[in-house]
Amino acid sequence: MEYKKLEQLYEGKAKRVYATEDPEVVIVSYKDDATAFDGTKRGSITGKGVINNQMSNFLMRRLEAEGIPTHYIEELNERETAVKRVSIVPLEVIIRNLSAGSFAKRYGVEEGIVFDAPTIEFSYKNDDLHDPLINDYHAVALKLATWDEIETIKKYAFAVNAFLKAELLTRNVTLVDFKLEFGKTADGTIVLADEISPDTCRFWDTETGEKLDKDRFRRDLGNVEEAYQEMRRRLLGR
Ligand code: C5P
Repeated sequence: MEYKKLEQLYEGKAKRVYATEDPEVVIVSYKDDATAFDGTKRGSITGKGVINNQMSNFLMRRLEAEGIPTHYIEELNERETAVKRVSIVPLEVIIRNLSAGSFAKRYGVEEGIVFDAPTIEFSYKNDDLHDPLINDYHAVALKLATWDEIETIKKYAFAVNAFLKAELLTRNVTLVDFKLEFGKTADGTIVLADEISPDTCRFWDTETGEKLDKDRFRRDLGNVEEAYQEMRRRLLGR
């Protein structure tokens, strides 16, 4: 399909979204810009946009094949992808297999505790409020989603985790935690949206524990570009 890029609809921290001639299709364009800590730390990771676009598309295609509906339509070039136009459910859905990041901080535990079963939590996507933690009852009370939608989102999020975790393990990567976003298409179908990349997941080398994700940028660990490239190599073989 030929998709013509029309006016910019939205600019986020890591991506821009453009209209196309088809009202149900938008084009996502990935930037190299990186932010952390609620936008207070800013920088750029050379080549990140290309890697995140390619990695996310690879994983979305695999997830579709596993029966999880996604927004993915077609990769257009290195940085741009045609996706289904959705209204984003304003919840960040976070799955954790090991303690790390805000979980370790909030509960005063070390990073790297392996959980017996994965956990799920939600944040309310709201910049003015700094994305506060929210539970499912509150999300329904605030009409951010219906109970049916939340049940569907949970089911898909755990299915994404099971698939991703197993897939990454064959590439010597431990999936520590990750964030998903879901959207609703014009007909009300819930689909996986946004991206799955080193920006949105914690990846640790299974043997050495080396961090291969955005924590290298957040924590000034160095070799940031190299970590993104290494994840692409392990996942896409190039
Ligand atoms: O910071 P925290 O430990 O809550 O992050 C959990 C997971 O969610 C991490 O993999 C992080 O990369 C991801 N995340 C994200 N976007 C946010 C917050 C967290 O992708 N705004």
